[in-house]
Amino acid sequence: VTPDLQCQLLVLGSGPGGYTAAFRAADLGLDVVLVERYPVIGGVCLNVGCIPSKALLHAANVIDEAATFATHGIEFGAPKINLPKLAEYKNGVIGKLTKGLAHLAKQRKVRVVQGVGQFVSPHSVSVSHDGQEHMIGFEQAIIAVGSQPIRLPGLPWEDERVMDSTGALELRDIPKRLLVIGGGIIGLEMACVYEALGSKVTVCELSSDLMPGVDRDLVKPLEKRLAGRYENIFLKTRVTSAKASKKGIEVSFEGDKAPANDCFDRVLVSVGRSANGGKIGAEAAGVSVDERGIIAVDRQMRTNVSHIFAIGDVVGAPMLAHKATHEGKVAAEVAAGQKSSFDARSIPSVAYTHPEVAWAGLTETEAKQKGIAYKKGVFPWAASGRAISVGGDAGLTKLLVDDQDRVIGAGIVGPHAGELIAETMLAMELGADVADLGLTIHPHPTLSETVGFAAEVLHGSITDIL
Ligand code: FAD
Repeated sequence: VTPDLQCQLLVLGSGPGGYTAAFRAADLGLDVVLVERYPVIGGVCLNVGCIPSKALLHAANVIDEAATFATHGIEFGAPKINLPKLAEYKNGVIGKLTKGLAHLAKQRKVRVVQGVGQFVSPHSVSVSHDGQEHMIGFEQAIIAVGSQPIRLPGLPWEDERVMDSTGALELRDIPKRLLVIGGGIIGLEMACVYEALGSKVTVCELSSDLMPGVDRDLVKPLEKRLAGRYENIFLKTRVTSAKASKKGIEVSFEGDKAPANDCFDRVLVSVGRSANGGKIGAEAAGVSVDERGIIAVDRQMRTNVSHIFAIGDVVGAPMLAHKATHEGKVAAEVAAGQKSSFDARSIPSVAYTHPEVAWAGLTETEAKQKGIAYKKGVFPWAASGRAISVGGDAGLTKLLVDDQDRVIGAGIVGPHAGELIAETMLAMELGADVADLGLTIHPHPTLSETVGFAAEVLHGSITDIL
């Protein structure tokens, strides 16, 4: 079959991985086609992920902050929530960004083709849209088709009161009682939003902790706050079945503290995401995909077929936008003939909950599991003037160093932890000695000082803490 369109590089999927790769490749002189099933580019992150959730978390933060001021001498009335307007604000944020992306694509002469792409051979993809099919031929391709929410079986998914994260971000109503199944980052972020808007939230988590795998000292301040605000947090608890009735979604639990049955107005299922690698006819191109839909790649982001690359969520954990963009750049550069490879020391993770939790590099949990030796410096925010002023005194900043005193891990909990972790990332990338962080003059009074103080705890300048 003769292709309707021919290009040097085809990028399948326009999320943060795909659009970054497409733009970088175009900047390096390649002729690029970007295929996306939806009418707007930006993928999960911009349309139904990072960005809308952060817009709503900002709104939730304003509500929460205003409420805390009652004890500081300023009382606001109860918030009057106009849900359609709040959704409009969130959609406006998305719109600004997706419009910007469309402009950037045009500027670079990246041809955006709408439709569902399927490989038909190692050098062609068929794209179907509105009953029409086009064939696009390519010299090289980058697979960036991302992931989608895992749908827990046995739930009445046909009922719109059972939602995944995409449904929760639509803000159809504020349920009186919301059940969040899954106490990971996405579940807890959405729980924060709905709780601030007025829902009574119950979180049900299969393992023994919220945010399983993250160091407990980092999660504790969050757990403490949530325990005081949420209706229930059921750990080591499984939802065994659920059915829709007029009253709501009737859920059966199996766990220590949970009741056998309860009824909720809405249920949010956030039990993880699965990679989309199995849905693109990869076998027609000879690309190997495992049973979880994940495509294995090397450090140059090449699949087993050397002219086809894969990036982002479809290559597996951590499923994070900044990992996808970084990989996208590497794949585009290699496709353009540059000597590039994925060589990040670590990839930071952030839960934008209230308070925020951020971590990167080695964690204590991992160090203990693997028997890795480390020293740690912890600075409790109760000793930071700025943290106390902004109600963040439950926070802490922790640095881990190796036997050469090089920074190898960091964890922060408290307001703006996600911003603060960036300094420690730079330290890790540069192989900085912890003394470098301690000797750096941080502006006073800021939360960033806590990074310097944690370094000084290790470096010896602060002796009265710990
Ligand atoms: P995606 O963004 O998933 O994009 C893939 C694109 O490919 C989609 O647009 C899809 O429509 C398209 N596509 C798929 N198959 C085809 C096909 N056959 N043909 C054509 N097009 C196709 N990450 C963070 O780093 N920070 C956060 O704060 C954060 N918050 C999140 C909040 C929520 C609620 C969710 C759900 C996710 C969040 N994430 C966050 C994760 C982040 O969204 C993903 O890691 C990121 O979007 C992955 O980028 P990607 O390029 O791999 O794929």
